[in-house]
Amino acid sequence: MTIHVIGAGLAGLAAALDLAEAGRPVLLHEASPQAGGRARALPDGTDNGTHALVGANTAALAFLKRIGARDGWVEPEPEGLPVLDLADGSARRVALSPLAWGNQALRPAGATLSAVARMASMAFGRDRPIAQVMAAHPAFHRGFVDPLVIATLNTPSVEASSARLGQVLRRLGGPGATRLYVAEHGLGPDLVVPALAAIERAGGSIRHGARLRRLVQAGGRATALDFGEDSVLLGRDDQVVLATPPWESQRLLTHLEVPAAHAPIVNLHFDRQGPDPVRFVGLLDALCQWVLVRPSGVSVTVSAGDAEAGLKEADLAPRAWTEILRVAAAFRIPGEWPLMTPPCRVVKERRATPRHVPGPPLRPARKPLANLALAGDWTWPHLPATIDAAIRSGQAAATALLRR
Ligand SMILES: Cc1cc2nc3c(=O)[nH]c(=O)nc-3n(C[C@H](O)[C@H](O)[C@H](O)COP(=O)(O)OP(=O)(O)OC[C@H]3O[C@@H](n4cnc5c(N)ncnc54)[C@H](O)[C@@H]3O)c2cc1C
Repeated sequence: MTIHVIGAGLAGLAAALDLAEAGRPVLLHEASPQAGGRARALPDGTDNGTHALVGANTAALAFLKRIGARDGWVEPEPEGLPVLDLADGSARRVALSPLAWGNQALRPAGATLSAVARMASMAFGRDRPIAQVMAAHPAFHRGFVDPLVIATLNTPSVEASSARLGQVLRRLGGPGATRLYVAEHGLGPDLVVPALAAIERAGGSIRHGARLRRLVQAGGRATALDFGEDSVLLGRDDQVVLATPPWESQRLLTHLEVPAAHAPIVNLHFDRQGPDPVRFVGLLDALCQWVLVRPSGVSVTVSAGDAEAGLKEADLAPRAWTEILRVAAAFRIPGEWPLMTPPCRVVKERRATPRHVPGPPLRPARKPLANLALAGDWTWPHLPATIDAAIRSGQAAATALLRR
């Protein structure tokens, strides 16, 4: 008996770990040369994109602990998020938790009682575009809600679902839920490598360059896995976790309903070495939404970057570097900050996540075939597409197969 896990993103890694630790023989098949999927290190070690977790991502943090990687995720801004507003040049800290807004210094602009109540109404109210819900509170929307929407839903506020943001808001009330963490050394050493090592310690193994081309089915079961150069006939007791991205899952299982549209995230990684500590700064009215400063480099995130995904590196890098210099000056970030734009690597993830628009989330069957369970961020209807959703979906797929 073997359990074949197709796709070594976070969903596949989480499923493989649970199954291997339950004593099942697990073989992961990954199409690309690296594991990690949309949260991976590129061959030169650069992250595909900055990934942040918050305390509310309890499944992700527990997974990190289990694979021995929790210490690699540091909290760069425990005193509140530094935010630079390029519209007026103001630089201040903002608390992510409304519980801390009693301190005026940490309260976002426009955070009146009625504005905060309006935001909170999204946790329970009817589903509609967030810009519509917040229309009467433009300052609070601009300075807090909109950046939160873009960061968590990767969808512009004019089209993003208030109910999906509500799923996030409901989780942000608990103790420590808004503490923000990033990988100190990168997604390779702080996530993917330790996850693979834990799976291997539990007896599982991975093969790279193994793209599943066709899933052969008969009588409501998966009967063979066709990888092109080789294929695997599935025995009576063999099982499958399909943990591929939505478009690929639909190609393999054509009756699946999957998210209709995706949104890009653009990341720029600048080659600039500097001293500790790690810093994480937000910007308003800027190309850069977030700037992550690590000793190994400076990374910029542009989520919901429909327009930016069409621009060239020559257009993006000098603009971003000019903004980074302003961040470094405003928050006195130590180290050298050359005026000339350093070498930069642009990574455009065109289908980073589904667009989270109003409407009920998809609820695909966890087991569409008798011996096959689905996993992937898009299959977890209780959260937007995130690392936490991917891990929870992988664990749910493993449970569904173990329950048999
Ligand atoms: C730039 C960027 C920034 C992000 N920032 C954050 C963040 O800050 N916080 C957060 O929580 N989330 C963030 N996300 C979202 C998060 O990365 C994803 O939700 C999560 O990684 C999805 O994991 P997954 O396993 O569901 O899918 P994937 O990561 O897509 O994994 C699927 C895997 O299947 C493989 N595969 C595909 N087809 C086949 C096939 N036919 N055969 C074999 N293998 C196949 C792929 O190569 C891939 O490894 C971000 C995403 C991006 C792109």
